[in-house]
Amino acid sequence: MSLSREAIVEGLQHIVGPEHVVTDEQVLVQSSVDNFRKLQNIFDVHTMPVPAAVVMVQSTEMAAELLRWADEQGVNVIPRTGATATEGGLESAVPDSVILDGSPMDRIIDVDACNMQATVQCGVPLQALEDRARELGLTTGHSPQSKPVAHLGGLVATRSIGQFSTLYGGIEDMVVGLEAVFPNGQICRIKNVPRRAAGPDIRHVVIGNEGALCFITEVTVKLFPYFPESNRFLGWTLKSMTTGFEALREVMVSGFKPSVARLYDPGDAGLHFSHFAADDDCVLLFMAEGPPGISRATADGIQAIVDTYPECTQVDSAYIETWFNDLCWGPDKIIAEDERIRQTRNVNRTTEISADWSSIGEIYAAARDRIVAEIPDITMMGGHSSHSYINGTNMYFNYFFNVVGVGPEEETTKYYLPIISIICEETLKRGGSIVHHHGMGKARAPWVKDEYGSSYYMLETLKQAFDPSGIMNKGTIFPI
Ligand SMILES: Cc1cc2nc3c(=O)[nH]c(=O)nc-3n(C[C@H](O)[C@H](O)[C@H](O)COP(=O)(O)OP(=O)(O)OC[C@H]3O[C@@H](n4cnc5c(N)ncnc54)[C@H](O)[C@@H]3O)c2cc1C
Repeated sequence: MSLSREAIVEGLQHIVGPEHVVTDEQVLVQSSVDNFRKLQNIFDVHTMPVPAAVVMVQSTEMAAELLRWADEQGVNVIPRTGATATEGGLESAVPDSVILDGSPMDRIIDVDACNMQATVQCGVPLQALEDRARELGLTTGHSPQSKPVAHLGGLVATRSIGQFSTLYGGIEDMVVGLEAVFPNGQICRIKNVPRRAAGPDIRHVVIGNEGALCFITEVTVKLFPYFPESNRFLGWTLKSMTTGFEALREVMVSGFKPSVARLYDPGDAGLHFSHFAADDDCVLLFMAEGPPGISRATADGIQAIVDTYPECTQVDSAYIETWFNDLCWGPDKIIAEDERIRQTRNVNRTTEISADWSSIGEIYAAARDRIVAEIPDITMMGGHSSHSYINGTNMYFNYFFNVVGVGPEEETTKYYLPIISIICEETLKRGGSIVHHHGMGKARAPWVKDEYGSSYYMLETLKQAFDPSGIMNKGTIFPI
């Protein structure tokens, strides 16, 4: 029999002390959603089951005790750190869930400039680690737009990626080792080594688990030398996304490693580059960085490739540098965006997918055309490619719509989910992945079997093995 809300709170207080258990009703209601149903918080209209409590986790041992208790009692737990999730990973799918908030675990344990790695607790904001690394002339190389607000635990749990990924990789390329706690209370530390071939790479069971398998308590990531003075910026306007994808592909398959490589379609370019790009212009841009010789050679190589495309018109590199300097979203921008939505009911959302070079252009065009034709009240439909690889790239659809004829709580069902459905369908049809970096959350969980195909067996077996009672973040990755 499931515990009552009162019994859950009492049990938690008994384990960690009442001072670490938050039961304020307003906090609980706001914690029932994340950015997936952000209109519910913006307009203060809530429909999701209310969590029983938020526990402010202070240590690995406390996390282990809490998980063991929740597992025995069958209480759903939702791990949380920075709370910037966009896909419903933090949403309480069932009543009386318990949120395990790791943000108090915010100690930078070690910055090791000899072995070029830093170890932090899960609640360290990425910005804090980056600031510490910069004091030593180093960088994490990780720069998601949410860098000022996201924490290392969540960044690892979602397989996040940053704006300089083409050079440094995604978080999966940066994690050296980590510590995680499983629902039976087992604490596992995966040691820090440059590489090993002692069986499968078990880091990948934890990286990207979205709180559906375990609670991450500590992370060790790589550090890199920081050379801001040798940054080089390059940009072009052009009329065709097809040409843009061709140029982008040629740069990547020729072996160049710019830190930033992006292609914007006209709609999305209009939001950032209207001071130099015409309404029907796409924008192709790059940033090269690293030791001066490498940065120079990278920029020269890219220049030589794009020079062979007569359709591309070069723009002043200062435009690209200015854009680059304003990329991250701290609390100020997030609050201002919420206020804009409150005033206008015009909502901006994004969905990111990936595919090989042969399919990405078709997926982009097919999804864009269908969304414009099938979804009402769209005020802007666009997108950009922002993370490229030797064998393909991503597409980050960026769209705005007016919420008309429904309440804010129905925005997801009338607009967001139908849009995601189109994007997922068009991507899966052509063999791409429906999630490039925001995680499955609960928003894209309904497509998990289509995403994995025959390899779903492996994913499902991990869930059964590590979380046999199904208490870890119900509905995330694995639909209820
Ligand atoms: C303005 C904005 C810009 C963004 N830009 C980017 C971007 O450039 N690149 C990118 O990849 N993402 C981006 N995101 C998405 C988001 O920031 C990332 O998914 C980030 O990794 C989440 O980190 P967090 O600490 O906020 O995690 P949370 O939001 O707290 O949690 C995210 C997910 O991870 C799980 N989780 C959290 N902590 C733990 C833990 N300790 N152990 C196990 N599971 C845990 C949660 O249950 C949830 O499913 C952006 C979001 C916003 C709002």
